[in-house]
Amino acid sequence: MSAQIIDGKALAAATKAEAAAEAAALKVQGIEPCLAVILVGKNPASQVYVRGKVKDCGECGIKSLELRMPETTTQEELLAKIAELAADKTVNGILVQLPLPKQIDERAVIDAIPPEKDVDGFSPVNVGRMQTGQPCFLPCTPAGCIRMIESTGTKIDGKNAVVIGRSNIVGKPAGPCCLAGPKKCQTVTVCHSHTANLKEICANADILVAAVGRAGFVTGDMVKPGAVVIDVGINRGADGKLHGDVNFEEASAVAGYITPVPGGVGPMTRAMLMKNTTQAAAMQNGVAI
Ligand code: NAD
Repeated sequence: MSAQIIDGKALAAATKAEAAAEAAALKVQGIEPCLAVILVGKNPASQVYVRGKVKDCGECGIKSLELRMPETTTQEELLAKIAELAADKTVNGILVQLPLPKQIDERAVIDAIPPEKDVDGFSPVNVGRMQTGQPCFLPCTPAGCIRMIESTGTKIDGKNAVVIGRSNIVGKPAGPCCLAGPKKCQTVTVCHSHTANLKEICANADILVAAVGRAGFVTGDMVKPGAVVIDVGINRGADGKLHGDVNFEEASAVAGYITPVPGGVGPMTRAMLMKNTTQAAAMQNGVAI
C-alpha cells in the first residue's frame, strides 16, 4: 500500500471541537444553539443516524430536540410540525431524516424548511446560493469531502476533479462545493450511470470522489497514480460489514491519499452538521463566530 490514509475520525474530532468552541462562544452571548431532528417512522438505519446526530450535539454543547413521529404521519402533520419549529426562535436548525414514508412528498418537506434553518443545505434557496457562490449552508457530505481533500495539503487549483454519482445530496453538490471554495478546481466532471468511458475519465482524475452506492465499484485501474480518492459509499455487505464504493486494497496501491470506510466520510458528514448548526445560530442572532 502506498496511499496515505485520510483519517476521517481524527478530522471529524477536530471539526467537532471547532463547533464546540463556537457553541461555547455563542453561550457566552446568551445564545444556546439548538438543532431539531425529526424522524418519521422506524427505519432502522435512520434511527441509528438520528441517535448519532443527537449524541454529536451533546458532545458539542448544542441543544438537540429529537422529535419522533409515527410511520402513519400525514404530509400535513409533518408540514405543521416544521412550521411550528420554523416559528420557534429557540430552534436554529431543522433536519428531517430521509427517507420518508411513501405518503409524504420529500420535496414538499424540504421546501418547507426555511433556508436560514436548513442545516442540511437541501432547500432550493441554499442550492441556488451554492451554485452562484453565495454564502449558504453547504450539504454536509460534500462539504466534509472538501475538508478531507484540503487536509491533504494537495494543491487543488487547476486540478481535474471527478465525482461519480449525481444524487441531489452528494454527487451534484460535490462539484459546486469544489468550485465555490477559495482554492478552485479547474475542471469538475460529474459522472453517472450513463457516462461513457467512465474508466478513462476516472483514471485522469487528480481528485476522485465516489458516491455510487456499489461496494468496490472503483477498481485500481480507475485511479490515477498519486490521486486523492474520497470514498463516500456506505454499503452493507453479506458479511454484515460496511464497505465503500472503492476497492480499497487495489486503489490504495495507486492513490496518493485515500479515505477508509468506515472511519472516513461518515464521521465528517456528522461533524459538518454541527458546524452548520452553530453557523445557523450565529446568523439568526446577527453575531459572528
Ligand atoms: P444515489 O443512489 O442517490 O445515487 C447514486 C449515483 O450513482 C447516481 O447518480 C447514479 O447515476 C450513479 N451510478 C449508479 N451506477 C453507476 C454506474 N454504473 N456508473 C456510474 N455512476 C453510477 O446514492 P447517494 O445518496 O448519492 O449515495 C451514494 C453512496 O453514498 C451510498 O452508498 C450511500 O449510502 C452513501 N452515502 C454516504 C454518506 C456519508 O455520510 N458517508 C452520505 C450520503 C450517502
